[in-house]
Amino acid sequence: MGSIILKGKLFTGYDIVENGEIKITGSMIEKVGEKGSIEIKKDDKVFDFSGLTIMPGLIDAHLHFFGGTSHDLMDWVTVNPQTAMLRSTLDAFRLLSSGFTTVRSLGDKTSIALSRAFKNGELLGPRVFSASYSIAQTGGDDDPRILPIDIANRLSYSYYCDSPWECRKAVRLCIRDGADVIKVYASGSFAGGGKIKRELTVEELSAIVDESHEAGLKVAAHAYGEEAISNVIKAGVDSIEHGLGLTEKLAEEIKEKNMCYVPTLTAYALSKNKGSEERKKLIERHFNEDMEIAKEKKLNIVAGTDLVGISEEPHGLNYLEIVHLSKYIGNLDALKAATVNAATCLGINAGVLKENYIADIIAIKGNPLNDVNELEPNHVDFVMINGKIAKLNGILMPFGV
Ligand SMILES: [Zn+2]
Repeated sequence: MGSIILKGKLFTGYDIVENGEIKITGSMIEKVGEKGSIEIKKDDKVFDFSGLTIMPGLIDAHLHFFGGTSHDLMDWVTVNPQTAMLRSTLDAFRLLSSGFTTVRSLGDKTSIALSRAFKNGELLGPRVFSASYSIAQTGGDDDPRILPIDIANRLSYSYYCDSPWECRKAVRLCIRDGADVIKVYASGSFAGGGKIKRELTVEELSAIVDESHEAGLKVAAHAYGEEAISNVIKAGVDSIEHGLGLTEKLAEEIKEKNMCYVPTLTAYALSKNKGSEERKKLIERHFNEDMEIAKEKKLNIVAGTDLVGISEEPHGLNYLEIVHLSKYIGNLDALKAATVNAATCLGINAGVLKENYIADIIAIKGNPLNDVNELEPNHVDFVMINGKIAKLNGILMPFGV
């Protein structure tokens, strides 16, 4: 079988090649160069994408596949599992069609099956990098406390743990499930309406990080508030999720330790007028002070929407995170946040158009470097994942090309 050659304007993840060519052999990028630099053989398939921008597939580094209908914790834990799985499969399909070739799902009941299906070639969807269940303390904001504990333990999408040894066990349960990353709740969210509380201790968080790193898995930590951010930095996690209440000092430590910062602006933008005054204030601060500090201190900002995969807000509009980020760091860096930086944060060999990288490639009608709104789903003309064409001329190809 021959190779696939794409011709057109390239955004490699780092720079632009106005008249470029890219050769894909098997699941990998074999060569990237200027027009005329790639030799075309008899069996090769050539696609001319003039007028489109060819770029790395998009990555959403923080989402969930709850398969529910609303933003209600009880809905997420009690939804019928088969229904949740079907809704999540549809979400995966929408994500791929929207140009997302990798997503990182940080705690839910369905993404581990999507991850496995992708690895087995059984998913018309993105590469799903799954945490399986999240890890949290008993009685925290992520625990449906109105249920008796035995029922909460059975229905939740989190493993609850309360001591370093229980936390190690929780990591081992995720590993047993086949997790690609470990997700921990190091603080509450807005559930109480008042002061944000740290969850788990530094000792417990450190045990989680040690056990995960021993297994070669990175740790993503949900952290709201100074205390929780400080705790997860001390514990040595790999990425800070949400990161509300960032300070200059904490940002310097995050930078020094080379951690990723995933501010998840989309979910907050969609819900900023909901909830308590305290919640509104924290979100307002996140869009102003936190993001200004993150920009100023040159944090490794990564795109993650925290969209949760519910019928109220289905997956597919995940490009909005790039639109939000672009207002602070500009179009080029916002695109990097959803490609090369996100791939580095996940530790996968993708997110760049470069030889010996996985061939996850999309082509967009228009030029997202000039206007990131061009990334809207209807402008995604072509999607290749793992070297296979999944969408061509705007049409999904369930049987390949
Ligand atoms: Zn989340």
